[in-house]
Amino acid sequence: MFRKTRGAILCPSCGRLINADAPVCLVCGRRNPGMWGFAGPLRMVFRSLDFTNAVTVACITLYIVSLVFDPGAALRPRGMLGVFSPSLDALLTLGAAGAIPWELGRWWTLLTAIYLHGGLLHILFNVLWIRQLGPAVQEVYGPARLVVIFTVAGVVGFLASNTLGVPFTIGASGSIFGLLGAIVAYGRKRGGEYGRLVLRQYGQWAVLLFVLGFFMAGVNNWAHAGGFVGGFGAGLVLSLAERQAETALDWVLASAAIGVTVVAFALVLVTAFAR
Ligand SMILES: [Zn+2]
Repeated sequence: MFRKTRGAILCPSCGRLINADAPVCLVCGRRNPGMWGFAGPLRMVFRSLDFTNAVTVACITLYIVSLVFDPGAALRPRGMLGVFSPSLDALLTLGAAGAIPWELGRWWTLLTAIYLHGGLLHILFNVLWIRQLGPAVQEVYGPARLVVIFTVAGVVGFLASNTLGVPFTIGASGSIFGLLGAIVAYGRKRGGEYGRLVLRQYGQWAVLLFVLGFFMAGVNNWAHAGGFVGGFGAGLVLSLAERQAETALDWVLASAAIGVTVVAFALVLVTAFAR
């Protein structure tokens, strides 16, 4: 029942409408565009994937785990921004990034740290931003490309701050700046009156949020800048949904991003039990 061997599907190479049983795509020449009946259902899987909700659930779950890890430290009051803050030990065990984990060879923290947060306000702000920008990026790029943009931006953000010597860091804000960067890239690629409007609007948001980071304690501004660059770059490379439907390559990239993130959290578990 999973296969779709008849009727119309979108070619997994060029995204144009074709017959599922066509031997070659008449538009781009791809052989076996129906992928033995799996091309249609694969597209359905990615279309029904709600990455924004998945990220929200992952962030909240890991935040609760990090609090339960060391409840004494989590409940100790440390000022307004320190309310319900997990201990550094908890965050390091769960995969915080930074120059120190990086020197220990823990490459997987580039991915795991995206989903960790240091306090109630930190996670609240980040989840609200993700829920605002995630669906917007999904609309203009597509669901699989959203996964790629979010992941690449987070990794580039932490690579930047690790290289520049930030000792420990966590949070989805690098990825959030990447979502802003991707929307700015959309405005640039689309062009015209609407494109310029989008570019100006979201460019202003990015600049405002970036400047705001310098007025708050403990903000990793390098990860913000790196995340923006990563998301902007990914946005320039990936196609816009209105120009090309997602292809097999987008699915492969998104699956790789999800796969390597799952492996990263498995390595967190391995490291936690090995110490
Ligand atoms: Zn094609």
